[in-house]
Amino acid sequence: MKIMWTTTLYEACQKNEMNVVEASDEPQQPFQLCQQCHERLLTYSLRPIEWYNLAVLHSPKQFLLHDDFYGEDGQAFQLEEEVIITKSEKAPTLQAVRHDLESLLDFSITRWFLEDDVIDALKQHDQQKILASIKSRFNETEHAEVKSRMVRNRG
Ligand SMILES: [Zn+2]
Repeated sequence: MKIMWTTTLYEACQKNEMNVVEASDEPQQPFQLCQQCHERLLTYSLRPIEWYNLAVLHSPKQFLLHDDFYGEDGQAFQLEEEVIITKSEKAPTLQAVRHDLESLLDFSITRWFLEDDVIDALKQHDQQKILASIKSRFNETEHAEVKSRMVRNRG
């Protein structure tokens, strides 16, 4: 429950306090955002790290996060060209997360498909720890799509 509380405060940018709730495809789990992220969510112009943080919690299959609007690394196709993405706004790469199991599992949730390089990275970790972590995430999330991804990761 402690984890749930922390994430409700800072869902997308993880900087500002949440003050807007926007319906997601999952009635039990709406997006919880600050004003600026909410505007960017509705205009399909989230920064990559904001897209990533939301995809970890809600899965990338949400309509508002969908691959019609965002690339796999969270870059928004609708973003005006003059918007410069700073280093801290970029989404993590596989290279950056592969040695940390929790970050790697977050990363795997954000993928449209689990590709071999992600599976290989998962195989480098202790299988028991992976199972334990998936189990505890499975119990924490109310989100059906994230749950089904967790189950697929087990295989
Ligand atoms: Zn925000």
